[in-house]
Amino acid sequence: MGFQKNFPLRHFSCFLAARGKNPRPKTMANKDQTDTNRMEKIVSLCKRKGFIFQSAEIYGGLNGCWDYGPLGAEVKRNLKDLWWRKNVLERDDILGLDGSILTHQAVLSASGHVGGFSDPMCDCLLTKARLRADQIEPQSGIAYHFTGASHEESGWSVDRAYSVLLNQPNQDENKARKTAREFYAQFLTDKQIPAKRLILVGESTSEEKEVTHYNPENGSLLTEPRDFELMFKTQMGASADDNDPNATAYLRPETAQSIFVQYKNVMDSNRVKLPFGIAQIGKAFRNEINPRNFTFRSREFEQMEIEYFCRPEDGLRLTDEWLANRLAFYDEIGLKKEKLHVLDIPDGERAHYSQKTYDIEYDFPFGQQELEGVAYRGDYDLGKHKEHSGKPLEYFDEQTKERFIPHVVEPSAGCDRTILALICEAFDEEDLTKEGGKQDIRTVMRFKPTIAPIKAAILPLLKNKPELVEKAREVKNLLQPFMNVFYDETAAIGRRYRRQDEVGTPFCIAIDFETMGLEEGKEDLKDTVTIRHRDSMKQERVAISELLPWLLERIH
Ligand code: ATP
Repeated sequence: MGFQKNFPLRHFSCFLAARGKNPRPKTMANKDQTDTNRMEKIVSLCKRKGFIFQSAEIYGGLNGCWDYGPLGAEVKRNLKDLWWRKNVLERDDILGLDGSILTHQAVLSASGHVGGFSDPMCDCLLTKARLRADQIEPQSGIAYHFTGASHEESGWSVDRAYSVLLNQPNQDENKARKTAREFYAQFLTDKQIPAKRLILVGESTSEEKEVTHYNPENGSLLTEPRDFELMFKTQMGASADDNDPNATAYLRPETAQSIFVQYKNVMDSNRVKLPFGIAQIGKAFRNEINPRNFTFRSREFEQMEIEYFCRPEDGLRLTDEWLANRLAFYDEIGLKKEKLHVLDIPDGERAHYSQKTYDIEYDFPFGQQELEGVAYRGDYDLGKHKEHSGKPLEYFDEQTKERFIPHVVEPSAGCDRTILALICEAFDEEDLTKEGGKQDIRTVMRFKPTIAPIKAAILPLLKNKPELVEKAREVKNLLQPFMNVFYDETAAIGRRYRRQDEVGTPFCIAIDFETMGLEEGKEDLKDTVTIRHRDSMKQERVAISELLPWLLERIH
């Protein structure tokens, strides 16, 4: 027994030798650091307000796939636009690319994904639930082993080893026997025989320490880990033969490969010199065994990747510079410094060709988890494509007359994970209950204005006053070409403010009687509006003529 005892997790972890992403065993979040209640509220708000919906929800949902609703789509666009602006438009040394999603299998063979991009997975022998081997928490306890089971009256029997782990002190040993009977009952030909009538054969026990081959949910033995292909394969064209290798293509598992494959074309068509980078934002697909934590681990997701090509002697320095640059970006979009953590991946846990790899992690309500990896990948990727394609991919340095394969630093961020972090960070429930008063909790999404889906709400004080409504529509028309605004004339103004707080609108613009110059003694306020700030709830007056520059300065 105990054939799988403490298997060396690292050797199973996804595609170590190949593309060699971070080969650390993926740990489960520490339960002490998780806040399930908060996460549930966030998921519910996302649906209620139209940020994120489950894909194909009316058909029961497509596991691991998500649709961004009207507000989520705006947040996503804001994040991608900002990333692009900071990394492409505002830099002279980085160019953009928009590669195809369907990928030639030769590209992914060279990169090591074909045949190598897999996760170790095992199945629960009792429930058939599929678990990722490297994510199972080690457990200790008493294991109950059996060699088989029989049923006296019918003469039925089965010879098959099975074990159950009881991992709690003083747990009733009959629980192990009950689980074992349920396991053996699966093999009964006569389904009328109840599991509890089975007699267990060959019972023995052993003490187990820190083992990972039992299902933490029910103690049942798991199958040995097997590799599970993570790429989505498809057939191109009208080939009748399903196995025609020339018709096979893949949905890309990362955006990086088209950057490597097009690096020479980008360089030649743009006459760039080292160091320079190529940036890309786009969809990637991984058939994750266990999609979970809302959008955090999805099967279809978006990446924001840069491959920054450089001379070998600059690689390590640039890796540190990129780490600092990326942390500054997260700060700018509103993720709190104390919630971001940098992991310097130690020797032996990085891909063999990487001299430096950092993971940037964020404190999600479900634990500290990866947002982005910043890796110094040497000349591994271009070297592999040169070898497999037989094409010269060297860089020629005009000054030194050297010809060499550039090294690369790769900051690789997940767009959806960043959005999830932004949503989690923004979510707040402010207690505004006045002493002795009714409980008053204000739900407010504290997005930075750059990220907020709606920049300003335009609210005429009363909808039955045509002059207010007309003025409010004028203000809306003034702003609409420049930003996403929302016009709302229903309900009392206080309720309308709260509705905007819940979706994170930083500025509410009220058109009132002062705006019309109709308030006695306040004629000087004619053609001004009230701006109510989401976070402080303070109000100020701004002239309509100043409104556009006032807002543009704050939302950019
Ligand atoms: P993980 O360890 O979480 O599986 P990874 O190390 O395999 O991630 P990379 O291959 O380095 O991830 O991909 C770069 C980035 O792409 C990750 O930091 C993450 O933000 C994002 N990403 C990767 N897989 C997923 C996924 N299944 N769902 C959403 N985002 C993902």
